[in-house]
Amino acid sequence: MARLAEVLTTVKAKVHFCSVCFNVAESDTCRICRDPRRDLTVLCVVEEPKDVVAVERTREFRGRYHVLGGALNPMEGIGPADLRTRELVVRLGDGAVTEVVLAMDPNLEGEATAAYLARLLTPLGLTVTRLASGLPVGGDLEYADEITLGRALTGRRILAG
Ligand SMILES: [Zn+2]
Repeated sequence: MARLAEVLTTVKAKVHFCSVCFNVAESDTCRICRDPRRDLTVLCVVEEPKDVVAVERTREFRGRYHVLGGALNPMEGIGPADLRTRELVVRLGDGAVTEVVLAMDPNLEGEATAAYLARLLTPLGLTVTRLASGLPVGGDLEYADEITLGRALTGRRILAG
């Protein structure tokens, strides 16, 4: 038991966030950001690291990610400054990304977050897309099966650009 506790402590200490996308990472950057085969022109914005796992499971997305760290929630006092929105805008500054896919949870907070980001990113002149409908409303992205989520990704609709 003592050995297990030791292992768990080590694992916990080793978990940190990718300095580029804020996904969980075992070193300074996550394995997706380090992968040279990923398409640098498409960026998928998600709420939590677990959503990265969900999108990866579909095998429909070859770009990179940006993890916001949550969703807008006025009831709980979570505003844009509490999410990694500033980091997102800074990341888009070099012009390498031409499409941003908004992959928020299909619920009220997710919708509000996507609407906010669409307004924020539209002036940057890139294509902003949103997952197609068909995801179970009110749920979490991570609970969508990979076929439904994969379809939502390939059928994504253009909001701006
Ligand atoms: Zn990363």
